[in-house]
Amino acid sequence: MSRFLSPEAARLAPYTPGEQPVDMQYVKLNTNESPFPPSPRVLQALSQEEAGRLNLYSDPACGRLNRAIAARYGLAPENVISGNGSDEVLAFAFRALCGTGRGVAFADITYSFYRSQAALFGLEETIVPLREDFSLNVDDYMDFPGTVVIANPNAPTGMALPRSDIQRLLEANPDRVVVVDEAYVDFGGESCAPLVGQYDNLLVVQTMSKSRSLAGGRLGFALGSRELIDALNRVKYSFNPYNVNRLSILAGAAAIEDEDYFQSCCRTIRDNRAWLTGQLEELGFSVLPSQTNFVFAKSGKISGGALYRGLKERGVLVRWWAGSGRIEDFVRITVGSMEQLKILVEQIAALLEKR
Ligand SMILES: *Cc1c(COP(=O)(O)O)cnc(C)c1O
Repeated sequence: MSRFLSPEAARLAPYTPGEQPVDMQYVKLNTNESPFPPSPRVLQALSQEEAGRLNLYSDPACGRLNRAIAARYGLAPENVISGNGSDEVLAFAFRALCGTGRGVAFADITYSFYRSQAALFGLEETIVPLREDFSLNVDDYMDFPGTVVIANPNAPTGMALPRSDIQRLLEANPDRVVVVDEAYVDFGGESCAPLVGQYDNLLVVQTMSKSRSLAGGRLGFALGSRELIDALNRVKYSFNPYNVNRLSILAGAAAIEDEDYFQSCCRTIRDNRAWLTGQLEELGFSVLPSQTNFVFAKSGKISGGALYRGLKERGVLVRWWAGSGRIEDFVRITVGSMEQLKILVEQIAALLEKR
């Protein structure tokens, strides 16, 4: 560690991204990317002309993009903020909405980036355990006075809460914000986006990385009351005003506007998920009920670590968390194309037979 490291940086808890191998071609089912390319309209939008304008800064207000997002969700552009991935939007939210005297609460098993951001901003965090069956009990958060962050559907469990549960949380205390991270909502969850006009303490965060095939474009956004969005913009304009680049602004707008392509990709993922779940169950796995583009599954015959390592040797990458207590024997498998999933299932079957 550098002797120049500040005490603040020494206290950080950096997020460990899923492997992004460059050396070898894997069947890559470890980071919940879409197996489908972006909409053809995205490719058309990334014109030579726009590339030729990269000498000029991008629009700090992301006007073209925020108007497209607002139209898609029946809101005004003032209800939208876009970011360089929803990770950045979440960082704006954590910094804008939490701090001295106002901590943050989230589940013990959820997106681990929340912990990284709480450490980054020196926030007091309250970790709320999921139930034994990995479901989230919103009643556990009713009395928490600070900001509540809930991934819905949750990751890596894949399990979803009904919108009415979030609504109960919003109503239990109108003086605290509930941040709902809907990274996976397009694959079967109930979005809280329709509640944005009704509750000024609701912030809905979404990403284009999963359902819109733009993980490499780095695009996320939040929907909320004008005042909440202003609060996030205060942070954005203190950190990185030109946070979304020119090409991603156009790509994101085109992706949002191609509703048919989006729906068809989501439908295929849901079909593939049903097939994968059936195959895994036949192989003796327990699979949590997923509303996402991944499944969280545990074999009765092989440990999570052995499964992860065995599959990696066979050219298939899945996500596994070493030393993670009650989820240690689970692996998280992205719902890829049928071609990818058939290879995965074959390799799991071969691994189990060998033992
Ligand atoms: C993937 C993911 C995100 C953020 O992804 P970005 O690529 O930064 O938009 C946010 N929350 C959860 C729960 C995720 O799984």
